[in-house]
Amino acid sequence: MPMSKDFKDRLYPHLPAIAQHYGTPFHIYDEAGIRETGRQLQAAFADIPSFREYYAVKALPNPSILQIMQEMGFGFDCSSSTELMLARNLGASGDAIMFTSNNTSLEDFQAAEAEGGCILNLDDLTLIDKVPRMPELICFRYNPGTRRRGNDIIGKPEEAKYGVSHDQITSAYRRAQAKGAKRFGLHTMLASNELHYTYMVQTAAMLLELVEQISQELDIIFEFINIGGGLGIPYLPDIDPLNIRAMGAEITALFVDFKDRHGYCPALLMESGRFMTGPHGVLVTQAINRKDIYRTYIGVDACMSALMRPALYGAYHHIEVLGKEGLAQTETVDVVGSLCENNDKFAVQRTLPKIADGDLLIIQDSGAHGHAMGFNYNGKMRPQELLLRRDGTVARIRREERPEDYFATLRFDENVLQL
Ligand SMILES: *Cc1c(COP(=O)(O)O)cnc(C)c1O
Repeated sequence: MPMSKDFKDRLYPHLPAIAQHYGTPFHIYDEAGIRETGRQLQAAFADIPSFREYYAVKALPNPSILQIMQEMGFGFDCSSSTELMLARNLGASGDAIMFTSNNTSLEDFQAAEAEGGCILNLDDLTLIDKVPRMPELICFRYNPGTRRRGNDIIGKPEEAKYGVSHDQITSAYRRAQAKGAKRFGLHTMLASNELHYTYMVQTAAMLLELVEQISQELDIIFEFINIGGGLGIPYLPDIDPLNIRAMGAEITALFVDFKDRHGYCPALLMESGRFMTGPHGVLVTQAINRKDIYRTYIGVDACMSALMRPALYGAYHHIEVLGKEGLAQTETVDVVGSLCENNDKFAVQRTLPKIADGDLLIIQDSGAHGHAMGFNYNGKMRPQELLLRRDGTVARIRREERPEDYFATLRFDENVLQL
């Protein structure tokens, strides 16, 4: 199931009023749903002491959403200096932020160290000598190479640009130790939109094994392992959601076993983005044109600038037409935006109820890697973001982009270099 029945019941009856008040298109997120998923995640790992989710900021970098994460006790996973600013603007610092960059620049390191710092996750051996000051607590991102299979979005580990290779990982910690690091964590991120929870269990097992091995060789103790994000959500109808309870139970058993053998166990960290917010957002857009040529095209007032996943990955996003759910009279159409790119399509040859101009389309599961991924190609503006709050009110949490935003970078001081 894409969007939950609860979210639908809370949203659909009010959509015409919301659309009239704010205008279309917009993404709207469901606070109650996000909190319920957060509660389920915490419940699944409740028996692992010091479990903590670090919400992957890039999935939905809106302060109002990040504040909900913070209220649930979550930290933030940041990968750029601007994401660090977002987290710090909410007062997060120190061990509430994990900074997982790759191809890291000196400016990135300086941003990581500033304003109360963060947990630094290094992506390569060479960075040990480039980080301006080795922090007391250091983490490395591990890339197992051919030891693990990858998946469609993130690719095979041996072809991925991320992380420290298996051959290098022990010496990475040895060298960090020599540079003054005293506390250690181990991180990996191998999957994206993975629906089989056992893959994540295997990832936890792999990291715990590696912790055992490195601990023995270097006589160090690991404070945490971080199994990354990548927990999947069912974009297609009739697909079972990831079994978070079974995942929690099996990973907990691994930790209990580790503790039995070693007398301690590291903390478990996770950095889910999609799983936390993906299903709790939808893109609402209005049908404005209908075109019958070789195919039938339904033109809507949003385009790929609002949601790139279908164009970028051929991703499926379930679509419903307000007031026409389950209507018997259907047709096969492409749902398209107005961008001069033929892949600007939210759906290709999709069977939908017969759509008329003015109908509201609900493009589901836009709550992660949706608005955030949008671009301004072709002068297209990204839409506003709304939040359906727990108390039943709706609040605008980001206005729509306007031409003045587009032209902002064209206002600058003249800067000519005479050669
Ligand atoms: C993108 C990303 C995540 C979040 O991925 P999801 O698929 O949204 O869970 C977590 N960690 C890192 C390092 C990432 O790059």
